[in-house]
Amino acid sequence: MPTLLVRNAHVLVTMDAERREIPGGGLLARDGVITQVGPTADLPNTADEVVDARDRLVLPGLVNTHHHLYQTLTRAVPGAQDAGLFDWLRTLYPMWARLDPDSVRVATTLGLAELAKSGCTTAFDHQYLWPNGSRVDDQIEGARLVGLRFHAARGSMSLSEKDGGLPPDSVVETEGAILADSARVIDAFHDPAPGSMTRIVLAPCSPFSVTERLMRESAALARSRGVRLHTHLAETKDEERFTVERFGKRPVDYAAGLDWLGGDVWFAHGVFVSEEDVTRMAATRTGLAHCPTSNMRLASGIAPVRACLAAGVAVGLGVDGSASNDSGNLLAEARQALLLNRLAVSPGIGGGPQMSARTALEMATLGGAAVLGREDVGALEPGRMADFFTLDLGRVEFAGALHDPVAAALLCAPVPAESVFVGGRPMIRDGHHVSIDEPALVAEHGRMARALVG
Ligand SMILES: [Zn+2]
Repeated sequence: MPTLLVRNAHVLVTMDAERREIPGGGLLARDGVITQVGPTADLPNTADEVVDARDRLVLPGLVNTHHHLYQTLTRAVPGAQDAGLFDWLRTLYPMWARLDPDSVRVATTLGLAELAKSGCTTAFDHQYLWPNGSRVDDQIEGARLVGLRFHAARGSMSLSEKDGGLPPDSVVETEGAILADSARVIDAFHDPAPGSMTRIVLAPCSPFSVTERLMRESAALARSRGVRLHTHLAETKDEERFTVERFGKRPVDYAAGLDWLGGDVWFAHGVFVSEEDVTRMAATRTGLAHCPTSNMRLASGIAPVRACLAAGVAVGLGVDGSASNDSGNLLAEARQALLLNRLAVSPGIGGGPQMSARTALEMATLGGAAVLGREDVGALEPGRMADFFTLDLGRVEFAGALHDPVAAALLCAPVPAESVFVGGRPMIRDGHHVSIDEPALVAEHGRMARALVG
């Protein structure tokens, strides 16, 4: 039963029920689980491992709720830099069709390594195409190298161009193959226990790339096995036009008709949702992954996040795919969420309080944990996992901002985490991954990216 003691933090942010921020704070963990949080003077003097957090901010590990890690191989691709969603996808699908088990494993490792450096300790990934024999297993192998808690989607596409969908035949699968493999990966990898490092989510891609039957059968399978459901919804005007023309319904009505609202479901984006849709999502406890950078990068629109929060919708943050963000930095994403949601109510000056830095941080921690259905992460309090990261407040980026170091973490330029711990074990120390040779990984990933894009 190894113990870990964190002491002397400039401020330790708990995100507990009282949202305590403890100057000179620390925590004690035993076997990866927090047993005590409070002022350093109230904690024991020693433990098996001691982290001195003097002049450091200590924050709960961030939780990412939407991503496509394979897209780290296709960032900033010429031809897809300035397009909206549908043209962007049409440009990239043929490149993604060249993915294989090795490139999926390496892209997953690199993307999670990047996320971890921004303080992320729990991440969901939504891979929805599996060319050339690639499998969820390849992603899980990569995630285990990095050491984050990983929620892997068994994502899918079943509606190709010939049937009226958007993707080409080369990247879709049959419904039978998708459902059989979904059941296989749940049996092989899903761990529902507290402290779990691996969970599975069933995640048909989007209304314009899957059949209604697959949506219904995925929901039935997920519910029979106790796993969660996720899909892209209400992301763009193009998508809304598609669901109205094909199904005679706007996106949230389409989802409702397929039994896709509920406390075990969360949607990525939710840009084109009405007031009524928001009320319905809140009433059914359907969650939302807000992806501000991607929504700006593809010029999709602005999700009504403040209305969702006010209505009681669980909202987490997602960096979204690396090809529609070109980055996988969750602390930066929280800053983007803060800034975009201020702009969303512009002109806001004098028009009431703006979204606060602490609200953005809450979405990135507790909000994400709620969206993924986890009560064991997202806050630093007894009984939760010892997942946290530290920021060095002596950096030039924070100079002059220590009047409020917690707000500074969001308002100032995002800086890399100095240390990141998952379940009381170090994943990053002194800014470097403990278990990964980062230059070698970047070199291997670079070779694969060149091969894929051509
Ligand atoms: Zn996405």
